[in-house]
Amino acid sequence: MGETTQIEWTDATWNPVTGCTKITGGCDFCYAERFSERFRGTPGHAFENGFDLTLRPARLKQPLQWRDPKRIFVNSMSDLFHKEVPASFVDAVFDTMEAASWHTFQVLTKRSSLMVRYLRKRYPHGLAPSHIWIGVSIEDAKNTVRLKHLKTAHASVKFVSFEPLLGPVGKIDLSGIAWVIVGGESGPHCRPMREDWATEIRDQCHAFRVAFFFKQWGGVRPKSGGRELHGREWNEYPLGDRTQKHIAKGTKRVRQPLSWSRADRG
Ligand code: SF4
Repeated sequence: MGETTQIEWTDATWNPVTGCTKITGGCDFCYAERFSERFRGTPGHAFENGFDLTLRPARLKQPLQWRDPKRIFVNSMSDLFHKEVPASFVDAVFDTMEAASWHTFQVLTKRSSLMVRYLRKRYPHGLAPSHIWIGVSIEDAKNTVRLKHLKTAHASVKFVSFEPLLGPVGKIDLSGIAWVIVGGESGPHCRPMREDWATEIRDQCHAFRVAFFFKQWGGVRPKSGGRELHGREWNEYPLGDRTQKHIAKGTKRVRQPLSWSRADRG
């Protein structure tokens, strides 16, 4: 929860909700759970109740106090569309995101059907504004239904995070998707990601002209395996991203545009 983060594809995290429950294989070694549970029972600690789902109303207005435009990862320690988060609370989160329109908000969920339902109710005749990016996490081919859901979402900017990538995703239809992130799992129980799985996704991004961001190979620590795929880093962002000053932190600067355009392809 803060104005800085080690996550390469964002500038800050904002956690008006913390805690979650596991719903899929990609959750098995959830970082947020591992981190939160370390502090269970520590009196006065923000994670005194570990990974139990917890609403944090005192944080609802935080981004309004951050004056510099940032990319903000919403609920890095939870899932905003968890069924136990009341709709009125999700409304309050969206109220803040709409008001703080100088930021770019990155909302990432595995509860893709609940996300679609919520956005339909909130924006029945339109789309979520373009500074609120809506994304789904997918770990393997079995879960690409989340991509199908995302494609129907009432959102202007849609993205997919294939992290942790646990298997090949096969042929996917990325039309209408602005941005794809790929990353391997990190932590003591990390499951390896194969190069051909990541390459298959990258090549499909090229075919659909989708910005591609390769976050990490993973390993015991997030940076164990580095960030290069086929000899270079991939730090692309969607066209029209208003915060392109940002290049992935802690890495060398790469000489490449931050997003695909016709000029990039010749
Ligand atoms: S949905 Fe996300 S935050 Fe929730 S348990 Fe799974 S990986 Fe963790």
